This record gives sequence, structure tokens and C-alpha cells, in this order.
Amino acid sequence: MWGNWCNMDVKRSILQEIEIQEFKKRGISLFVKRDDLIDPDISGNKWRKLKYNIALCESKKKTGILTFGGAYSNHLVATAAACQQAGLKAIGLVRGEELNVESNSTLKRCAELGMELVFISREEYAIRNDKAYHETLGADYPEYQLVPEGGANYYGMVGCQEILSEIDVPFDHVFVAQGTTTTSCGISFGLKEHQKVHVVPVLKGFDSLGEMNSILSKTGIDKETIEELMSRVEVHDEFHFGGYAKHTPELIAFIRKFYDQHGLKLDPIYTGKAMFALLKALELPKYDNTTVLFIHTGGLQGIEGVEKQLGEKLFE
Ligand SMILES: *Cc1c(COP(=O)(O)O)cnc(C)c1O
Repeated sequence: MWGNWCNMDVKRSILQEIEIQEFKKRGISLFVKRDDLIDPDISGNKWRKLKYNIALCESKKKTGILTFGGAYSNHLVATAAACQQAGLKAIGLVRGEELNVESNSTLKRCAELGMELVFISREEYAIRNDKAYHETLGADYPEYQLVPEGGANYYGMVGCQEILSEIDVPFDHVFVAQGTTTTSCGISFGLKEHQKVHVVPVLKGFDSLGEMNSILSKTGIDKETIEELMSRVEVHDEFHFGGYAKHTPELIAFIRKFYDQHGLKLDPIYTGKAMFALLKALELPKYDNTTVLFIHTGGLQGIEGVEKQLGEKLFE
């Protein structure tokens, strides 16, 4: 079921050229890989990360997926939708006991898609990655495959590795927003020797390289290979705009202007920050006569939280 679905959906992720005159003059071509178009609910890299987790679930004959997320989590909605499409059940453990299914449109959508939502305290949420906690959950929900928050596991990374294999233009640089680093680690596998992956962490004070190193090490890849992969990573860590889910008037204005000029919507949590970093980086002459790729990892379902803070819609 899921196997057939997923091959169809991925064709919607087209490669789109963005024409910016100042860049054109300097011989820079900019392409956007539109993973945000794969599915309205399973947006962008969350689809990539779920693909093999769903396959694993099917091969282990599990009833469904048990996972975690915050109130506006792209991953929760994506899991709910992917499981529904695959004929699996889904349970989402949500951060915040004070919330309920009616709290916002993300949670409503999860419920509509058949996900069972369990609202847990922040204390319980804080131990979501602890082994002992997983054992308890495993005992409580033996029929469910546990997938970490954000789809951040080995299977998620393998799915993300496939993104670059769909790119049919030769490129020099690829830019991607970074949360757990799963997507960027997957991308790093697919790079050729002269290509660089530019990561834009959306968390403040995040140790990108350390985290990527740790995730790659857990796969059992040898040290030398990891060093080689890491040598192709460049970190742009000044674009968190205050931290996770934080934003500034400058960022919001940038996202709106970018939409006006190019008709492409970016979200304020991830892709807006990454595109801001990309355009800033490209001011440097070292990018002259290069081809640059931006991975649109999706995230537009989750903008309601930001709109509530703004007191208005992000896009007209
Ligand atoms: C989850 C998410 C990311 C972060 O990806 P990681 O693999 O966790 O680094 C980036 N962009 C969007 C839109 C996301 O929803």
C-alpha cells in the first residue's frame, strides 16, 4: 500500500529555478527542491523521514507508530497522515497537559487523520529519549513502533539520503534548515567530492557538527568516513533569530517579500531562516559561477502558532 503511494508522491517534488537578477549576473543559478509539494500533510522532509519508518512498521507487522511532538509539530501531522495512508494506526504523545484536540489546527488535523493524541506533562516529555522511558512505552504499547520526535532515527536518515538522488542538475552547494540534523546527515551521504552541504540550525547555541557527528557515529560508519562527510559540511549558525520558533520583524518581512517576489512560501520556523541564510551567504564572491540548491523541507502547516503571535496571517 504505502510502497505504491510513496513512489507517486515523490514525483510532486519538482526542481524549481528561482531567478534573482543580481545572482544571474554573477553566474549563480539557484534551484529549489520542492519537497514541500510532496503532500499537504506529510510535508517535506517529514515524508522522507517517515518512508522507511513506515516500511519498518509494515515488515515488523506492527499496528502503528507511536511518536512525540509539540503543539504545532510538523512531524505529528505527517505521522498521522502517513499512517492513515499506509493503513496503520498512530499515537502522538504531545508536550503539554493543558492542551487538547481543539487547541489548534495542527492538533485538530492530527485527530482528523485518526491519530490518538495523548497529552503529557513537560516533565514526562523531557525524558522522551530516555531508554528506560522507551521500555515503559514498549510495555504499554507493544503493538506500536516507536519513532523519535522529528523522525530522527536511522531510517529517517536513510530516507533523506534519497533527496539528492532526484536532483538532475550538477550543483556545488546545497542549503538546508537543521533541527535534529537527520536530514542534513542523510544529505551528506549523497554528496560528491566537490559539493558542500550548508546547514542552518534553527536552535540557538546548537552544536551542529557535534550532533551530526554523534548521529553518524551511531550508524556504525567508521571515523575516517565520518570525517570525510563532515569536511563537506558548512554551518551557518547566526540565523536562528532568537532560537527555536522565535522570529523577528526582519524575518517576517523577509518571508513576505520573498513570497511577493518569487511566489514561494517559506515557514518562519525552518525554511524562512534557511533561505535568509542562503541569500546572505550568496553575497560572498566565493559563490560566483556556482549552482546552488535549496531544499524546501516544508513546514507550512505549522505557521498558525506564529500567526497567533503576530495577530495576523503571514500571507495575504
Ligand atoms: C522538521 C523540519 C526540519 C528539520 O529537519 P531535521 O532533519 O530535524 O534536521 C526542517 N524543516 C522543516 C520544515 C521541518 O519540519
